[in-house]
Amino acid sequence: MHAPTAPRAPSSGHCIFCDLIRGAGEVSICYEDSVAIAFLDIQPVNPGHVLVVPREHYEVLQDIPKDVGAHLYMVAAKLIPRVQTAAGATDMNIVVNSGAAAGQNVMHYHIHLIPRREGDGFDVPLPFPGSQMPNRQQLDGMAARIGSMLRDPLTNSGMQG
Ligand code: AMP
Ligand code: ZN
Repeated sequence: MHAPTAPRAPSSGHCIFCDLIRGAGEVSICYEDSVAIAFLDIQPVNPGHVLVVPREHYEVLQDIPKDVGAHLYMVAAKLIPRVQTAAGATDMNIVVNSGAAAGQNVMHYHIHLIPRREGDGFDVPLPFPGSQMPNRQQLDGMAARIGSMLRDPLTNSGMQG
């Protein structure tokens, strides 16, 4: 597991999830270990909406050390079938809003496990109806750019490493 580091302070002051993690608020925990905690979302899309959260305060995906990220996804994978059964759902959205422009409201990284039901009214509208469809040259260009960064050791750090 990842090397212990000093707990980080949230850059923007107060953090509701840090409060919950240190026991300073009501929370319904369904899983915890030394690195991760999972609890029920207070304003669920559907019953059984769970958040998987690192105990340490990291804001967005690129702040997460690789081993912590891998552990969080291991915890999510373990929870998913149990959450589905408990919620009586057959389908699931796994959502990460990383950054304010991506809709993140609580700036302590978390993975949403959202049990889904037919006609529940929730939607992740993909493919995006407003998409400007790129041509193959544009898609290939972007793929090549990403691929070349993966091969460049200077751009490899954190989760990307
Ligand atoms: P996001 O917009 O991805 O940052 O999602 C934040 C989620 O945290 C929302 O779904 C909220 O309902 C949930 N949330 C906020 N405060 C609490 C709390 N005290 N306990 C549990 N879930 C919370
Ligand atoms: Zn926090």
